Amino acid sequence: MLIDYANLKKAHAMRQKEIEKAILQTVREAHYIMGDKVYRFEKKLVEFIGGGYAITCSSGSSAILLALMGLGIQRDDEIITTPFTFIATAEMIALLGAKPVFVDINLDDYNINGDLIEQSLTEKTRAILAVSLYGQPPDLKKLEKIAQKHGIKLIIDGAQSFGAEFEEKKDSLWGDVATTSFFPAKPLGCYGDGGAVFSTNECLAQKIASLRVHGQEGRYIHKYQGIGARLDALQATILKVKLKYFSEEIGLRNIVAQNYKKYFHKYMGDKKIILPKIAHERTSVFAQYTIRVKEREKLRDFLKKKGIPSSVHYPLGLHLQECFKDLGYKKGDFPCTEIASDEVLSLPMNPYLKKKQIEYICKNIAAFNEHI
Ligand SMILES: *Cc1c(COP(=O)(O)O)cnc(C)c1O
Repeated sequence: MLIDYANLKKAHAMRQKEIEKAILQTVREAHYIMGDKVYRFEKKLVEFIGGGYAITCSSGSSAILLALMGLGIQRDDEIITTPFTFIATAEMIALLGAKPVFVDINLDDYNINGDLIEQSLTEKTRAILAVSLYGQPPDLKKLEKIAQKHGIKLIIDGAQSFGAEFEEKKDSLWGDVATTSFFPAKPLGCYGDGGAVFSTNECLAQKIASLRVHGQEGRYIHKYQGIGARLDALQATILKVKLKYFSEEIGLRNIVAQNYKKYFHKYMGDKKIILPKIAHERTSVFAQYTIRVKEREKLRDFLKKKGIPSSVHYPLGLHLQECFKDLGYKKGDFPCTEIASDEVLSLPMNPYLKKKQIEYICKNIAAFNEHI
């Protein structure tokens, strides 16, 4: 059996006619930058999340940058964030000359541990930048309380979690500002790079919309020092079609996750493997299905031989990355992050993974376990 990890070919094939027609129409209209296609997609995003404002942009990374710029983050400001995330989260803080201050994660949801934040606050702390890793939001209630108590902002990097909820409200609507990514392999992916920023604050949303087009207020009149970070009209066209089917796909991803659970229980009980835990007040969009195992590298080799691709998100905490060595962290600083980086393993996950394929993956992991 050969298994496709994200199965983007199948995702296109499912909506081929509709997407290709929309692409061709946009190409022929020859209006490639901003305009109606982009604004109509933004309106659909707002409908989907259930309120607030949506500002599309060129990637999940530029979304984070725009969110930070929108809040006025500058040189020497400190931003609390997690060391167990994709590099972009902390990189965008550093790009503005601000300082990422890492706080360890929980091993239950792999997100920032709210209980450890207050000890890292200083008079320079301006915001908490939390991540909804693998598609599940962190404890947003707790984070919001801390932010309010200390008069700092809460930003949510929802690059992996678009569509996920905390207390029945989309994580895009929590905090002062939230972001997402439409990178092809994210749950709602476009055919290139794309992202969005969300806020329920109208002033902030307007500022971010302006920052995205060089801080412009009118044609060649610039109110802010911004950046060029627009979403292509072509990507907006594709995303508008895909968004129609997105709730259905989130449902399918959740069924895949349930089937993983079922087959893991069937073939290996609860032994030697830690499955994803979704807290009762939250939902996950399962950007990844990530388990924890010992002997991860050997297992990956074994699975590869069986035609099962896997991935590691992420093998090294950001506090130990060479690019952040000037921050002065060392091994041992964030024990939960280090355990997770040694043990996490992401298995194939996409809405079209078949039951038989999931059973095959679980059976093989069980077989590997018999031998160690
Ligand atoms: C993918 C990702 C990003 C960056 O998104 P791009 O669209 O690739 O720039 C940022 N943060 C997290 C947590 C991500 O997974």
